[in-house]
Amino acid sequence: MRLSGAMEITGEVRDEDGGPPGNAPGRRGVVKGLGLAAGGLAAGAAGGAALTAGGERSLLAAAGPARSPAAMAVPVAGPWRPAHGHVDVTWSVDTTRRLVALTFDDGPMPDWTPMVHDVLDAERVPATFFMVGSRLVEHARLVHGRMDRHEAGNHTWSHRDLSRLPHRKAREQIRRAHAAIARITGKEPRHLRPPFGRLGGSTLSAAGELGYDITLWSIKMLEKTYQDDPPKLVDYIVEGTAPGTIVLAHDTGRRDRLVALRNLVPIIRRLRARGFEFVTVSELAEAAGKGPGGEEEPAAQRAAAPPPGRRPAGSAHAGVPPGRR
Ligand SMILES: [Zn+2]
Repeated sequence: MRLSGAMEITGEVRDEDGGPPGNAPGRRGVVKGLGLAAGGLAAGAAGGAALTAGGERSLLAAAGPARSPAAMAVPVAGPWRPAHGHVDVTWSVDTTRRLVALTFDDGPMPDWTPMVHDVLDAERVPATFFMVGSRLVEHARLVHGRMDRHEAGNHTWSHRDLSRLPHRKAREQIRRAHAAIARITGKEPRHLRPPFGRLGGSTLSAAGELGYDITLWSIKMLEKTYQDDPPKLVDYIVEGTAPGTIVLAHDTGRRDRLVALRNLVPIIRRLRARGFEFVTVSELAEAAGKGPGGEEEPAAQRAAAPPPGRRPAGSAHAGVPPGRR
């Protein structure tokens, strides 16, 4: 079956807030080894609504109302040989180690990306930047010499809602950003964060074809909620962080995001005081299923581990290098 009739639609810039991460899946937070030929999530997430946990404004382009059919997650009649025969979708990682990954989306931009780097450098905190490829090309100087400690992730070429694109266009969004990120940062991204946290079948098939896994988040800065009460935002993040948590922040965008960026130092210091260590998304993935000493843990033990946060963590497989692109 060929993908046809999937139209590309651009329209109003929309600002969506998926609400607190209590909306995150209560079941085991991972879709592991998705058989792309299977139905269910892969083929069924029309418009990505089931997985929307956004809170982002479209920065460069946004899709309008869904008028196109959901993209099938198997893009060709076959045979199809993606670089990865499976794609992991990760909200958080199963571990009892007190590891947390800070992530920053949508940059680099001149407004706040340099400030974020200054703070992370001063506190010696590694983070993962999910970059918009076209912005990186325009503002490459902002990250020059600043990415040594950090991981570069892929946030598409122009911040498109991949759930509304056919496979070919979704793949192009990822591939083009990948090339720019690898060239400018010298780091090959392995993790895709789809804009708005929206997944469709074509998001999964394009990620699989390019050897990517998908990384979402399990808590995000609720800037709108706490813009007038920074200490509450700090409390919210610190108290909501559990071993394996992935934190979503943005290093550009709406002005209310400054409430998070200006309070990174207390967030970082209080998490450290609680015994948390900051790692990149890939480092966090490598800790999946491991206990405080780095030893393998039985899954039952992880599930029973006392959560400083709320819910059982998801997981990702580790260490699989990206395929050819
Ligand atoms: Zn974004």
